[in-house]
Amino acid sequence: MKIKKCDSCGTYTMKDLCPKCDKPTKHPQPPRFSPEDKYGKWRRLEKIKQMREHERR
Ligand SMILES: [Zn+2]
Repeated sequence: MKIKKCDSCGTYTMKDLCPKCDKPTKHPQPPRFSPEDKYGKWRRLEKIKQMREHERR
């Protein structure tokens, strides 16, 4: 059985209705960006920062 999540209160449940607020639950969506992408972005930003620091000198 797949676990579902209530969009309203964030409760995870196996039922089609949230036990807390009686709203229909959904299958949780995977995050749009993976953590690797996030860190990759930070790494790129850090690189740009370093390049700018380099230009200044
Ligand atoms: Zn709920």
